[in-house]
Amino acid sequence: MQQSDPHITLITPDAPMSAATHGGRAKCLQRLVRLDLPVPKTVALSFDAVHGLAAGDVPDMTSVLAAFSESQLLCVRPSSEDPDWGGPGAILNIGMNDMRLSELSDSIGAEAATKLYLKFIQSYSIHVARLDPDIFDDLDSGAPDAVSDFLAAYEDEAEEAFPQDLDTQLAGVLRSMARAWEGTTARLLRQAKGAPADAGLGLVIQAMALGVGRGESGSGVLQLVNSDTGLRQFTGRYLSQSQGRDALQTGAAALFLQKDDRGPSLEEKAPAAFAQLTEHAALMRRKLREEMQCEFTLENGEICILDGVRVQRSARAAVRIAVSLAEDKIIPREEAVMRIEPRALNELLHRQVDPEAERDVVGTGIGASPGAATGKIVFTAAEAQASAARGEACVLVRRETNPEDIRGMHAASAALTERGGMTSHAAVIGRGLGLPCVVGATSMRFQTRKKRIVAADGRIFKEGDVITVDGTNGQILGGEPRMLEAALDDSFQTLMDWADESRDIGVRANADTPADARTALAFQAEGIGLCRTEHMFFEADQLIAMREVIFANGPEDRSVALQALLPMQRDMFVELFELMAGRPLCIRLFDPPLHEFLPTDRSGLRDLAEALNLPLSDVTRRVEALVEYNPMLGMRGVRLGITVPEILDMQARAIFEATLDSCGENDPVVPEIMIPLVSAKREVELVKTRIDAIAAAVKTERGREFEYRLGVMVETPRAALRAEDIAPHCEFFSFGTNDLTQMTYGLSRDDAGRFMSPYVQQGVFPEDPFHTLDQEGVGELLRLGAERGRRAQPNLTLSVCGEHGGSPESIAFCREIGLDYVSCSPFRVPVARLAAAQLAISDKLQ
Ligand code: PEP
Ligand code: MG
Repeated sequence: MQQSDPHITLITPDAPMSAATHGGRAKCLQRLVRLDLPVPKTVALSFDAVHGLAAGDVPDMTSVLAAFSESQLLCVRPSSEDPDWGGPGAILNIGMNDMRLSELSDSIGAEAATKLYLKFIQSYSIHVARLDPDIFDDLDSGAPDAVSDFLAAYEDEAEEAFPQDLDTQLAGVLRSMARAWEGTTARLLRQAKGAPADAGLGLVIQAMALGVGRGESGSGVLQLVNSDTGLRQFTGRYLSQSQGRDALQTGAAALFLQKDDRGPSLEEKAPAAFAQLTEHAALMRRKLREEMQCEFTLENGEICILDGVRVQRSARAAVRIAVSLAEDKIIPREEAVMRIEPRALNELLHRQVDPEAERDVVGTGIGASPGAATGKIVFTAAEAQASAARGEACVLVRRETNPEDIRGMHAASAALTERGGMTSHAAVIGRGLGLPCVVGATSMRFQTRKKRIVAADGRIFKEGDVITVDGTNGQILGGEPRMLEAALDDSFQTLMDWADESRDIGVRANADTPADARTALAFQAEGIGLCRTEHMFFEADQLIAMREVIFANGPEDRSVALQALLPMQRDMFVELFELMAGRPLCIRLFDPPLHEFLPTDRSGLRDLAEALNLPLSDVTRRVEALVEYNPMLGMRGVRLGITVPEILDMQARAIFEATLDSCGENDPVVPEIMIPLVSAKREVELVKTRIDAIAAAVKTERGREFEYRLGVMVETPRAALRAEDIAPHCEFFSFGTNDLTQMTYGLSRDDAGRFMSPYVQQGVFPEDPFHTLDQEGVGELLRLGAERGRRAQPNLTLSVCGEHGGSPESIAFCREIGLDYVSCSPFRVPVARLAAAQLAISDKLQ
């Protein structure tokens, strides 16, 4: 019978069946049957059969119905390959007709039987005959003639009698569900959930377990964990005399499952059934190796298990569930690690808008730093600091941020900019601080002089108005939606420890300050892969000294001015070395163009003239002389190190003195010093000579030895191409993929946000290359650079320290080309650790 047609399969323990041919629900039901659970008889239709149905080929109904007795009521449920892709709603009580009504009235009572019939007439009318639901609005389901009234309403509207015959009813239900799946809206909805365009649908036809009748009858839904937290907790409800998921409807007089102070429970009402149900649920967890939600009925006290689906879960619950399954030895640890989507960790690492909360979206942009925060709008860094001093949360709104805004960003709860992309200043600093940040919010108008922003729908938000920045998905929301707190609990730590057991590529953090380093250590980074030293110079006391350096008359004067900075730098390095306690610390020498340290407006220039005791005209002239047409391609990085070498000298001395100050007798500190923006071998030779000389001087002065490692930041295309020349002069390369992407594409990292969305939407770029490493272009330079570098210097340590270091796809590429480690913002370290572990585990499994 059924088993002879591969597309119509009675679910038995050994019927040939898979999620890929009959869908996840059918497969799961087969597993429940194998566990000998009380599952009503079920027949599964394959994807092919359902596809044929949509095109008008009705399957052989005799085969479909052969497994069921003639008087059996049936239900049909969807069975897509991945249950998360959804499908049309279940239709229950198929087979109800005038004759069944009278039979059932005898067995379960007239009232209950009538209720089933009326429910079926309604759902058949709406979902199969596609009639308007309001044709039943004026009818009274409690009236003595309710059934004939409902049937008449159907007949009036459908212009035919309500079908009495099971074959016709079932064929109609199957066809309508098959067609609903193939409709455009359903297709788009499931594609949004990751389903392929041609995803198939199976259908399962199951004998109804009524849930209504004499004795204790009803239906319910049970799971053993809380979907938000993943903690063990009986969750679900049971409702007497009900079907399907009625028990979960709000307002239903449903019972708790387990004894509960809040009201009566199934455990008290039907203790034996409850105990049996609990056992079944525990068996499902153990054998299906997953937290399952099970749909059940009670019929005269007897349990039936109708269905099992994976428990819906928040990211936080997903971690706890995976860890507890592994701790209970139900799945191996490696599988627990594989079960968590690395990016989902962002939901744990940051506060989030509650997915259930209402969102008043007033603008969108690029979600540059995940998490969400609410605050009053402020338009300057100074206002942000004042707001923080008053203890008021604020959102710093700027056209774009620059280094002078750093303190404002520290003070703010979130940042929002009109311009910028994934690697613009606000984005990089936001990620470093774990500060929610949306950049490139071009859907809003920024009228910063008028101190207001205008939403796409014309609403105006002024200084002091409350908004929420959702950096996870790039939205700006009006007001303060409900939030979920970050949740770095014990399960998270356990999962990360297990990930590290498998991981085979290093993960360091980009950290500029002791505060960043503490965060990096909390997330168990193996070291610091990039310490951008210039950020120190923006601290108030260092900024003044730095400006004096810029305004010095000649090298000698400059060296004197730099003396003020030396102890500050050294103290900072000592603090960092001590915090890192022997873990590697890679310090990048001064990188930005000097003008970034100078004021841009008139009052700033006046203050500067006053501080330096110089005429305003002098100061203005000197500032103007430093202006470059293309500062990112100008006097910065190693170019500054060669033309104004005193800064580099001071930094090298600060690093070496700090090295000696921090290392004990038996635990030497070995600093890594990195030269930015190199494009030619000679640059490295010149800088190396200077640094070696300073190292020798410090050794002599202190009478103590130390070692250091010199490396090059490969962030110009030429450095990657000429890696073979450069590598012999250094011990490591770190690919600066932010600048390398900028220079490979000839695309400004600060302005790309303006047109990135249309570019990605129209498929010019598959992704924002500042976000996801462009493996074809920039990646080729990385591959070449790595190969050529190692050819000349086999022991060369290789890494990536651009923002891509934290993206799972980019990490896969870095691993493939043999890099030793990736370095990313501290808050991305856990994502990187998990993604890297999954790559190693997948390789092992292949
Ligand atoms: C880079 O260019 O990739 C990099 C890490 O340096 P920065 O972002 O400071 O230019
Ligand atoms: Mg760079």
